[in-house]
Amino acid sequence: MNEEIQLTERHCLNCDKALDSKMRRDAKFCNTYCRTEFNNKRRYGLHPDVVKVDKILHRNFEILEAALKDKEYVYVKKEKMLRQGFSFDYYTQAKNEYHYCYTLCYKSSDAEKIWIGRGFNSIVKKYDQYNQ
Ligand SMILES: [Zn+2]
Repeated sequence: MNEEIQLTERHCLNCDKALDSKMRRDAKFCNTYCRTEFNNKRRYGLHPDVVKVDKILHRNFEILEAALKDKEYVYVKKEKMLRQGFSFDYYTQAKNEYHYCYTLCYKSSDAEKIWIGRGFNSIVKKYDQYNQ
């Protein structure tokens, strides 16, 4: 029975989420946003590996952003982040013990917890220094 479900389960070509089984037989995306993003990527001719890594980074960013909400920093259990699909192998920048994901940053607080904060200002300052 499980095999049958797997055979019929379809995934969004953009974000890889399982598509609702009630969707049209020929549905390829979970929503208009995903269809547009997929077509934009194809239009700009990004290498498939770039698209793959972007997807991981975007997911990481969303997990960090959801944890932070409107706070300046939070502590989150590493295990919880992993359960949400966070990948600690991918980041946009690393400095000292900090890892950045675009404008957000995180570091190990202890063996179990991760500190998450906003790193945008320091990135911008550095960028401005090099680009004056
Ligand atoms: Zn999607």
